[in-house]
Amino acid sequence: MTQPLRVRMAPSPTGDLHVGGARTALFNYLMARRAGGSFVLRVEDTDALRSDPAKEAGIYDGLRWLGLHWDEGPDIGGPYGPYRQSERGEVYREAVGALLDSGQAYYDYTTAEERAAERERQRAQGQTQRYSGMGRRFSAADIARRQAAGVVPAVRFRSESRSVSFHDVVLGSITVGPDDVDDFVIARGDGSALYNLAVTVDDHYMRISHVVRGRDHVSNTFRQVLLYQALGWPPPVFAHLPLVVDLRRQKFSKRDGAQWVGAYRTQGYLPEAMLNFLIFLGWAPGDEREIFSVDELTAEFRLERVNRADAVFDVQRLDYFNGVWIRRLDVDDLAARARPYAARGGLTVAPDQHEYFAAGLALEQERLSHLSQTADLMDFFFDDALQPDMRQVRFRRHDPAAAAAALRRVAELVRTVDPFDDPTLEAAMRALAAELGWKAGDLFMPVRVAVTGRRATPPLFATMAVLGRQRCQERLRRALASLAECSAP
Ligand code: GLU
Repeated sequence: MTQPLRVRMAPSPTGDLHVGGARTALFNYLMARRAGGSFVLRVEDTDALRSDPAKEAGIYDGLRWLGLHWDEGPDIGGPYGPYRQSERGEVYREAVGALLDSGQAYYDYTTAEERAAERERQRAQGQTQRYSGMGRRFSAADIARRQAAGVVPAVRFRSESRSVSFHDVVLGSITVGPDDVDDFVIARGDGSALYNLAVTVDDHYMRISHVVRGRDHVSNTFRQVLLYQALGWPPPVFAHLPLVVDLRRQKFSKRDGAQWVGAYRTQGYLPEAMLNFLIFLGWAPGDEREIFSVDELTAEFRLERVNRADAVFDVQRLDYFNGVWIRRLDVDDLAARARPYAARGGLTVAPDQHEYFAAGLALEQERLSHLSQTADLMDFFFDDALQPDMRQVRFRRHDPAAAAAALRRVAELVRTVDPFDDPTLEAAMRALAAELGWKAGDLFMPVRVAVTGRRATPPLFATMAVLGRQRCQERLRRALASLAECSAP
């Protein structure tokens, strides 16, 4: 019987959910869903100084926002917990003990000064800086002297300058030479485990079948492979996702703007757009299709289709996906999601105005590229004190006095037209323009500025219909007052 597929995401809670971390989570999540396996969330908080419970909560929040729910994790438990490395010290100590007992690891009493001197020597000679294993060669007397002097040892794995190979689903078989893996530290002097040891032990005991993570972990994987061998454990399948780079093909970093998923959320990206964007950071369907929901991805995703080439982070592509996904939402859903952004932008929508908000937003749906624009695009719907500034109209063919006369006719039309809807308003206004001998556009612009206070709006008559007769009348009255000022000598 084949083992059930078990994958994991293993964030360090030293920052919020990173774009790269979210990508890793998505790929793992899809694998688990597709295979009916389990997606495990493990928190790698062995670095007590840098780990922060608030960051851990932030990571949960980001993953939940994306809809990447985990089956086991620190907050929900599971059969192979605990899922926080800080609570697993005992398991690591046992593994470190086993490696020490079998002679595959040793206490290294080298001092920090000696290691620094070695690195300096290597640097001066133009060699790669690596630990030479000098601590292995200390005599018992030398060790005793160092102990007496209070040197705190680190536990190092005895790599024996071996070359190491493993098969990667994405990269194929890869090997490093004997000089590339030095005797790395697996535990501190106090017995607490370091990353490579902890990850290996956890992946083993949590029965992780596939380790899918960023390419920047390849150098660790070689070390972890050595640990699997030393501990006599079968290694999982490894797959390393391409490096995320910026448009200059450099590693995606702070200078490229927001690295944290939360920042994209604040800017008004939809989780659907974010996921659609993240999947293309390393995967492609093999045809021209671009828009994928998570359900579609679950059906399509294959680890074998992950690219080797670096994945370029192009925010314009994310913007494009966001526009597509915003337009795909039904308007009630869009309105519900946009409300918090509206509120943050200072737009107060009374509880009984939700339908009005949704009707206005439906008109903006085409133009909306980020939910954070909601307040700016929509405030004219809600500003009951709106004072249209008619100087925005460029009076080219008709002076303000003529425009005032025309707007008085429009006001009359707005008072009487029935029903007060988009087609009826349009027909009536076109007829009025013809009667006045005006080009339609020459009439519509002052009307637009009058009822919305701005030159750029969604289609005029649909906008008027949403605003309603009363608001339009009130605003036309104010516009006439503004026009009187424009035409005053
Ligand atoms: N904790 C590591 C990180 O945050 C991930 C380790 C792993 O995936 O093996 O990058």
